[in-house]
Amino acid sequence: MSVRLCQRCSAELAPDDIRCARCGARTPLPYPWYLPILSGMILLLIAWAVIDPEVVWDYIAGFGAR
Ligand SMILES: [Zn+2]
Repeated sequence: MSVRLCQRCSAELAPDDIRCARCGARTPLPYPWYLPILSGMILLLIAWAVIDPEVVWDYIAGFGAR
């Protein structure tokens, strides 16, 4: 990880600092673009592991037959 600098006073920031310790400027954490996609895929994987796909398929099939 690279060192982040305050955009206002160029002070060095801790990796998890949300505000600059010297001037108090807000320093939003760098937000990787793939984070929402990654978390969504992890959620889908967890859902796939927790929910038995056969149960879901039976439910859909039963719903159509009704
Ligand atoms: Zn600053």
